[in-house]
Amino acid sequence: MRRMRKCATCFCFHILLLCLWNSTICGQVSGAASDEGRFLCVSDIHFNPFQDDALVPRLMQSGVPTWHGILEKSRERKPSPLGEETNYALLISTLKRMNKVCPTPDFILFSGDTLVHEFEKKFGKYSKSQGELRKFVLKTYEFMSYEFNYFFPRVPIYFTLGNNDGYDGDYEIPPSGSFLHAGADLFRRYWIKEGSSGSPGGFEGPGPGPKVLETGGEAAELGFADTFVKGGNYGVRPVRTRHASLIAINSVYFSSRNSYRSQGRQQLEWLEKQLKDARDGDRKVWILMHILPGIDVRATLSHPGQPTVYWDETTRNSRGRTYLQEFKYLMKKYGPTVRGVFSGHSHMDHFRVVPDADRGRGASAFVHVTPALSPKFRNNAAFQLFRYDRDSMALLDYETHYYHPQYNEWEKEYDFRQTYRRSVLTPGSLDKVREAMIESGYVRSAFIRFYDVNNSKDNPITKTHWKAYWCGIASLTRGEFASCLSGAELPGSP
Ligand SMILES: [Zn+2]
Repeated sequence: MRRMRKCATCFCFHILLLCLWNSTICGQVSGAASDEGRFLCVSDIHFNPFQDDALVPRLMQSGVPTWHGILEKSRERKPSPLGEETNYALLISTLKRMNKVCPTPDFILFSGDTLVHEFEKKFGKYSKSQGELRKFVLKTYEFMSYEFNYFFPRVPIYFTLGNNDGYDGDYEIPPSGSFLHAGADLFRRYWIKEGSSGSPGGFEGPGPGPKVLETGGEAAELGFADTFVKGGNYGVRPVRTRHASLIAINSVYFSSRNSYRSQGRQQLEWLEKQLKDARDGDRKVWILMHILPGIDVRATLSHPGQPTVYWDETTRNSRGRTYLQEFKYLMKKYGPTVRGVFSGHSHMDHFRVVPDADRGRGASAFVHVTPALSPKFRNNAAFQLFRYDRDSMALLDYETHYYHPQYNEWEKEYDFRQTYRRSVLTPGSLDKVREAMIESGYVRSAFIRFYDVNNSKDNPITKTHWKAYWCGIASLTRGEFASCLSGAELPGSP
């Protein structure tokens, strides 16, 4: 009897230990009232396979499974310094840290720009052949899936395309073009990880190799093959969620710097259809895009005159609306359905709120901008870990981790909930953070410090420029931005 009781105590103790242990496991929060999940968020990787001249010809000749071994021999062993793009050492260091912080995320969100800037020009040093260039571009995407799969086997990467993606240079992704055709199967199988576990071309040989999930054909159901090939957009029902859709649109077509602006209208028409279907089916939605709406404040400050907008303000749809006006309309109409919008592109850590035009105050949506992994624009390399509710898709919190180049190590930078004292990311809560920057020096300096991911030496937000960055959060058109800048005085500065 005594022995039995001892065993029972021992059993309970072990269960307690197990529970405590579980509570620290990513994705399994014991005792939580809701069903909490976690996902990792990364943006603007801009991977540079040309970092070591001597290795490029070997990469060109070799299959992707051997790239890992070739790049291990790079002369540069340290992660990229500020001002440079992501080298192999930084990529691997990041994946290791992501894996340490959260080894089993539900999925990874990637908001675009896989390739190094001026990929074509850099490749031109080795070959002038378009065919070889295209092959090398695709191999770079394959390599990325290999590396992510090694650290996160069976974890889908939900992605969107950025302006530095594709065969055709900056901002150019021809609709129904060769890149979308050639990449569709690769992205569906090895990034989204859906479909049968066949043996596709280019993936033979040793090495970790991508693992394929049998997820039941959600993306196929939503027409991936058709939509991706036409415009790089697609919808998917994220794994582990119950009533949700992730809608990836190609916002590169909204930029005045691309040649296919009528495609932007089609992206928004398709988005509206997805939002309507989701609302009718009682599903919640996250939207993923690369280029954020609003003012490019940094470009505006360096070229004073007319504010620079990320989305073209001249193209109009059949309702007579610009891209931004249409987006605002959709965010208002489908406000209760949309639980978050994710973007990248600026390389900085910040957000936008989409004002509720009818009420003249408050917000109908927010855009979370994930900072870049590439430290090219002198932000420290970073990624984020999110907590969310798998049922309601509410975004509960996130934390940013960054690589500290001086100490040669990764650090946790900050936690949204603790820093801004908000329990969930909503249009309203982020609008309150925006307002709090006026009243609270603490909130203001937190936003400024985290903007370029804690690189105080090069922070673009200065005493004189602070107001422009603040105005940029919610004044999304040229007119709104100009009137915010000339409007009421803002107290405080960095
Ligand atoms: Zn970028």
